[in-house]
Amino acid sequence: MKYVDEFRDGDLARGLARSLATSARDDREYRFMEFCGGHTHAISRYGLEDLLPPNIRMIHGPGCPVCVLPVGRIDAAIALARDPKVTLCTYADLMRVPASGGMSLIKAKAAGADIRMVYSTLDAIRIAEAEPSREVVFFAIGFETTTPPTALAIRLAAQKKLSNFSVFCNHVLTPAAMRAILAGEGEGVEIDGFVGPSHVSAVIGVRPYQFAAQQFNKPIVIAGFEPLDVMQSILMLVRQLNEGRCEVENQYGRAVTHEGNLKAQAEVADIFELRDSFEWRGLGEVPASALRLRAAYADYDAERRFGVTTPSAKDNPACECGAILRGAKRPHDCKLFGTVCTPETPMGSCMVSSEGACAAQWTYRRFDTQRVAS
Ligand code: SF4
Repeated sequence: MKYVDEFRDGDLARGLARSLATSARDDREYRFMEFCGGHTHAISRYGLEDLLPPNIRMIHGPGCPVCVLPVGRIDAAIALARDPKVTLCTYADLMRVPASGGMSLIKAKAAGADIRMVYSTLDAIRIAEAEPSREVVFFAIGFETTTPPTALAIRLAAQKKLSNFSVFCNHVLTPAAMRAILAGEGEGVEIDGFVGPSHVSAVIGVRPYQFAAQQFNKPIVIAGFEPLDVMQSILMLVRQLNEGRCEVENQYGRAVTHEGNLKAQAEVADIFELRDSFEWRGLGEVPASALRLRAAYADYDAERRFGVTTPSAKDNPACECGAILRGAKRPHDCKLFGTVCTPETPMGSCMVSSEGACAAQWTYRRFDTQRVAS
């Protein structure tokens, strides 16, 4: 298949592995964070860490949208869904994320709440049109990739004068999270560079990452999702460090332009504004790291419309998702990994989504079985 097979070619992968082996200096370590959960998934699925020299270490980042949503926001969504007049629409991944008191959206649905899984924001609009007596709330999560479709739904709702549609907005911003990770370096994680996100960068372009190179001296290489994309990006990072460079480079030129998608950016800027601060699972409160609806679209803002409050809530104390999302620990450092916590019985968010580090490592058996057994 065009644009797939040539990026999974075994001979090319072996060639890249040889280049990495000869380029990586013996006298230092290379610690690279792949920010995006899609890259975490690809690294586990294709066993890419097995192709790297031992002194190149990949650190999983917080770029899984389901994983970083704090428990309090899921509790708030469940409370909303329990309102008898509300139909809560959401993507399927969120359904099984553990909330407080052993609850989850899927358990709330089983208990009678009207919660429906949708494939797109437009499904939620269709439900609102078809069922005017229901208050349809779209539970919006995700990074810059999923924000434009939410903006489009709000625009459509306004055009159609839909009075029973609103959005519980939880969209978050990648560069702000990267900044928080870099500012917190030393708290269990040291990073030499980032494998930059693919789809997020297709929307926001290259420029928003410049701060990492200029203020923190960390190189970033925006990478595609295929295995050869990731390996080539790691090689580009190694070469930058060897040459003493700290730049934002774009390996994923077939999808990411320097400016990004200007139309999507304009649409998002028209409908959303920055929150002063937002809580992330693992990172805590991060300034200017999330979006909310502008006052002009207040009618479509479920938080204002239903007076949503976000209760303070704690993760399962045995779950290490917070440290894993900061890059401070790896999935097999968690005592629950593969014992009581599996994709069938997730105890934390990182085991729910296929982009979560725990789910990716468990699904493709990328862990030290001795450590898990002990
Ligand atoms: S294995 Fe389960 S409990 Fe442990 S960190 Fe991962 S998601 Fe949390």
